[in-house]
Amino acid sequence: MTRRPIAAPLVVLAVLLAAPPLRPAAYPSTPLEKRIKAATDRLAPELIAIRQDLHAHPELGLQETRTSAVVADYFRRLGLEVRTGYAKTGVIGILKGGKPGPVAALRGDMDALPITEEADLPFASKATAVVDGRETGLMHACGHDIHTTVLLGVAAVLSAVRADLPGTVVFVAQPAEECCGGAGMMIADGAFKDIVPQAFYAYHVDDTQKAGRLGYASGFMSANVDGFTLEIKSEGCHGAFPWLCVDPIVAGAQVVTALQGIVSRETHVEDNTVITVGSFHAGSAPNIVPRSARLEATVRSYGEARRTVLRDKITRVVTGICQAAGAKFDLAYEFGTPSVYNDPALVREALAVAGRVLGSREALVEQKPEMGGEDFSAYGKIAPAVMFNLGVVPPDREATAVHSPTFVADEAAIPIGVGLMANIILDHQARAAKAK
Ligand SMILES: [Zn+2]
Ligand SMILES: [Zn+2]
Repeated sequence: MTRRPIAAPLVVLAVLLAAPPLRPAAYPSTPLEKRIKAATDRLAPELIAIRQDLHAHPELGLQETRTSAVVADYFRRLGLEVRTGYAKTGVIGILKGGKPGPVAALRGDMDALPITEEADLPFASKATAVVDGRETGLMHACGHDIHTTVLLGVAAVLSAVRADLPGTVVFVAQPAEECCGGAGMMIADGAFKDIVPQAFYAYHVDDTQKAGRLGYASGFMSANVDGFTLEIKSEGCHGAFPWLCVDPIVAGAQVVTALQGIVSRETHVEDNTVITVGSFHAGSAPNIVPRSARLEATVRSYGEARRTVLRDKITRVVTGICQAAGAKFDLAYEFGTPSVYNDPALVREALAVAGRVLGSREALVEQKPEMGGEDFSAYGKIAPAVMFNLGVVPPDREATAVHSPTFVADEAAIPIGVGLMANIILDHQARAAKAK
């Protein structure tokens, strides 16, 4: 029996201590990550074909019957439990993992826009529909064809590693994001009544970043979309004798100007607020004081508390000006889609994974919260939620804006999105299962 030499291990230890800290291993490093990467690469051509098919067959909100059937069929072939009929065309696919753990959900929206496509693509949409009595083209101009495809891809990849997946993942194919608050409708129709996610994930195409970049905001990401319709009333009179009646145009003009004082004089500089009177209709001739003026406005802010504060201030200003003018009025104020709040803990956790999957921290782009609206916020009322922005600007083209007829997205973003979301969800499920 020989004595174990102790000098050599001490030398090794000293070298290890002196060495710089190890960088996180390159993706994919674990056997599970390698399987996810291989499944993603294998699926990419099929997913791109699905996306081109969806792109060529866009459907408006609550009319996504073909898209919904494609999704349900795909989920069934993966062996997911499929439930349909929420918000008319909504589908959920339930994947039960082989290990115990909580429930997470991933949402992809399916609806297109009433825009005639002008993009120079072999699979450009030729679909049309009659909207407000007029025939118009339909187009996936907001990238929801990519959202739906990434949803299918993540479902396929996580199904391929099902035995190693802790807990359950609910894949939510949601209708009507653009038009009608499909998220709230799915919840109201009981989509999450007996399967309640403890975390919600989503992504949106980002028309400002190249594929391979991930935009994120911790905290508020999109705005409350509130607004009002104001009708200022008058008896009407001759324009040459305006003292004979209230002038609703003059009162309305004062309202428009005074509302901007709420933003500039009554709102803390860090409480981002927008009040836009986007529609003001009154009158039919230069020599008639009209019987009414109708104003419509959108009011944007962040967080629940601000909504009622702004409603009360706007009501005060409108009431004061109309009373001063002696005008009767109807003010109909509406709270619409609430702001999306990205849970900071979910964001932190996901960024660590995303940085590795994308190969560098530089691929993660911190973004300012937007003043646009997004109905994903409805899921945030059920559980902590987070929505990321997936770069889709093609390498060889100028960036084109979503909601424009020439919008073009880089399909390379599809496998990238699938790899990202599959790893982010798997990592979250593993952590959440361990924490229980
Ligand atoms: Zn949109
Ligand atoms: Zn969108």
